[in-house]
Amino acid sequence: MSISNLSELFEHTLQDVYFAENHINKNLPTMIEKSSSTALKSLFKDHHAETKTQIERLKKVFEVIGKKPSGEECPAIEGIVKEAEELIEEIDDKETLDAALIAAAQAVEHYEITRYGTLLTWAKLLGHDDAISLLRDNMEEEKSADAKLSRLAEDKLNKKAA
Ligand code: ZN
Ligand code: FE
Ligand code: FE
Ligand code: FE
Repeated sequence: MSISNLSELFEHTLQDVYFAENHINKNLPTMIEKSSSTALKSLFKDHHAETKTQIERLKKVFEVIGKKPSGEECPAIEGIVKEAEELIEEIDDKETLDAALIAAAQAVEHYEITRYGTLLTWAKLLGHDDAISLLRDNMEEEKSADAKLSRLAEDKLNKKAA
């Protein structure tokens, strides 16, 4: 696909994050399964439910721009997930594994936050007013997931692993 204006770039980036959310949706069950702490498990479960809602919001954003929802492969999210999977294979201690899962999840959240920040800015520039609150809701959920993960890491998990 050749991209020649901001409108096409917006669509491309929307397809990128749509792919990324679906990829995360597929991989969260493994994160849930691999985590040991009940607090971390329930955080991942909550975020899995949120991710499904985020995918629905993205479908509405496609509707706003008059396009069918479709994904475009996002090598960045595939790389973050692959790196996490490789690291997980090397860890045998439960607490250390939880710390690694938190770190991996935070890398995902930060990727998502940059994408939603960019899409939000472009939606405003392009006058896609009906997309703004949908993108903002997704971004706020990612920020809140990131903050919860930080709190969990600081509270106890990293201390136990230390
Ligand atoms: Zn492309
Ligand atoms: Fe997400
Ligand atoms: Fe990407
Ligand atoms: Fe997320």
